[in-house]
Amino acid sequence: MVQLCYLILKIMINKIYKSVKLSIIPYLLFSNLIFTQESNFMEKIIERETIGIRHMVEGFRELATLTNNIDVLEKIPTYKSNTDNYKFDFTIIDIEENDENIFRGTIAIALGSTLDDKIHIIIDIKNWLQLSVYEKFSTIIHELCHDALNLKHTDDDPRSLMHPTSQPKTLEELTRMTVRMLENYKFGLLKEFDKNELYIHSNSIESKTKIYNRSKLNNISFRKIN
Ligand SMILES: [Zn+2]
Repeated sequence: MVQLCYLILKIMINKIYKSVKLSIIPYLLFSNLIFTQESNFMEKIIERETIGIRHMVEGFRELATLTNNIDVLEKIPTYKSNTDNYKFDFTIIDIEENDENIFRGTIAIALGSTLDDKIHIIIDIKNWLQLSVYEKFSTIIHELCHDALNLKHTDDDPRSLMHPTSQPKTLEELTRMTVRMLENYKFGLLKEFDKNELYIHSNSIESKTKIYNRSKLNNISFRKIN
C-alpha cells in the first residue's frame, strides 16, 4: 500500500513540475526585481504555483482513498466543489510584509481551522518559493489537516506529517510521513483544536507549537500580491 501511495505521489509531482518549473528559474534570477514592483511576472508565478497546489490537494485525496479514509475525503472536497456554500481558498501573499513579529518566517497559516464551511490557507510567497517540491507538498497537506480536519501537531512523533518541524527531504519520506499521519487519523489518535484556535508557525521553534486564538488576526491586514 505504501508503494502504491509512493507511485501516486510521484505522478502528482511530475504534474506539479510541469506547471511550476518554468516559474522557479526566473524567480531565482530576478527575485529582488519581482518584489520591488508589481509585475505580470509575479502573477504568472502565482498562477502556476496555484495549479501545483491543486495537484497537491488531489494527490492527498488519492492517498486518502487508498488508505480508506472516507472522513478525509468528506472534509477535503475536490476543487469542483468550490461554491458559494463551500469556499476553497488558497491565497498567496506577502505575509512577512506585516510588521507583527509573530509572522517572521511564516510559510503558511491555516486560517480556516475550526471553520467547517471553508478551507482558507494563506501562503507567504517568499518563503514558499524557497521550498523543495516535497516540502511544498508536505506544507499543503499539513495545512489542510490543520484547516479542514482541525488537527493539532504531534509534537512527540517526528515521523508524522503533523510534527511541527520535521520536513520530508525525499519522496519516500513524504509518502511515509503522510501515510503514518493518515493511519493515525483513521484510528482517532490525533488531537483536534478547540473552537477558534489556530497555529501561526513562525521561525522560532517555540512558536511552531503555540496555539493562538483567531482574534489575534482580526486587526491585521495582508497585502495581496495580485
Ligand atoms: Zn502546523
